[in-house]
Amino acid sequence: MRATVMYGAGDVRVETVPDPRIDEPSDALVRVTRACICGSDLWPYQKMEPSPTGSRMGHEFIGVVEDVGADVRTVKKGDLVVAPFAWSDGTCEFCRRGLQTSCLHGGFWGGQLDGGQGEAVRVPLADGTLVRLSVAKDDALMPALLTLSDVMGTGHHAALAAKVGPGKVVAVVGDGAVGLCGVIAARRLGAEQIILLGRHADRIALAREFGATDIVSERGEAAVERVGELTGGLGAHSVLECVGHGQSTEAAVSIARPGGAVGRVGVPQREVIPAAVPTFFKNVTISGGPAPVRAYIEELLPDVLDGRIQPGRVFDRVTALDGVPDGYRAMNAREAIKVMIAF
Ligand SMILES: [Zn+2]
Repeated sequence: MRATVMYGAGDVRVETVPDPRIDEPSDALVRVTRACICGSDLWPYQKMEPSPTGSRMGHEFIGVVEDVGADVRTVKKGDLVVAPFAWSDGTCEFCRRGLQTSCLHGGFWGGQLDGGQGEAVRVPLADGTLVRLSVAKDDALMPALLTLSDVMGTGHHAALAAKVGPGKVVAVVGDGAVGLCGVIAARRLGAEQIILLGRHADRIALAREFGATDIVSERGEAAVERVGELTGGLGAHSVLECVGHGQSTEAAVSIARPGGAVGRVGVPQREVIPAAVPTFFKNVTISGGPAPVRAYIEELLPDVLDGRIQPGRVFDRVTALDGVPDGYRAMNAREAIKVMIAF
């Protein structure tokens, strides 16, 4: 089959790789129908050291089950399924508590395993991992359903970690697909004011449609001051950090009000969380991590199916598999918010 392989910074290729097959009785073989490129794929795109073997890419996909191992019970051949960005057994201590990204037997797509940006994927622990979708594989909702594999669940996780609720003042740091989904999640959970910190006109326009009430395009100290002005000098109850840069994290913890909470879902690019002393004196909770999106698919699915939330609008470009290298380039150049791959 053909799949996306990254060999180093800026070096993404689509090439022939071994066909996946059922290796374990708990596996499923999924023929991918939709996938996408993630903002987190841009970190290796910018920084990856050259690798002779390369790394298979993609962790967001929808597809049709082509075969299942003898132990698989919850999906069968012909089912349309969505996969979360981590696979998990659904039965261990952490899965039962809804933290499937810490599954004792789970893992993440890509690397030396199959990734979503390829024609097919061997899915380990299929019963714990896959969620069946009761729509046709070319349904108009496909972009929105695809966001349940990562960005919508991740935005929701940021909102939960930041303790968003009715009446809260929320700030979302980052106008990428996750930040935009964070705006959707904040509104869905009843936030009263939603301040987006972002700079790109197209993304800001979409954020406003998703429910952002205020936009802050300044950076650093100026951004912190502007959020102060917008919140009566108090800061935000809930801050969603959806980037992971040192500077964005510093802004996030700085704009939280005393007793507030920061939900981090941007993969941290620094070892240390900034502003430890001021956040201590403000009693700010700092939480978050890789979103257990498997836990959120069932919760968010009804809202996607009836159109109450429309996270599929974060996709502003569609490509075939051959166009994936250019899709990376376009997202990295901020020409595209998020690129969907249609097979
Ligand atoms: Zn588990």
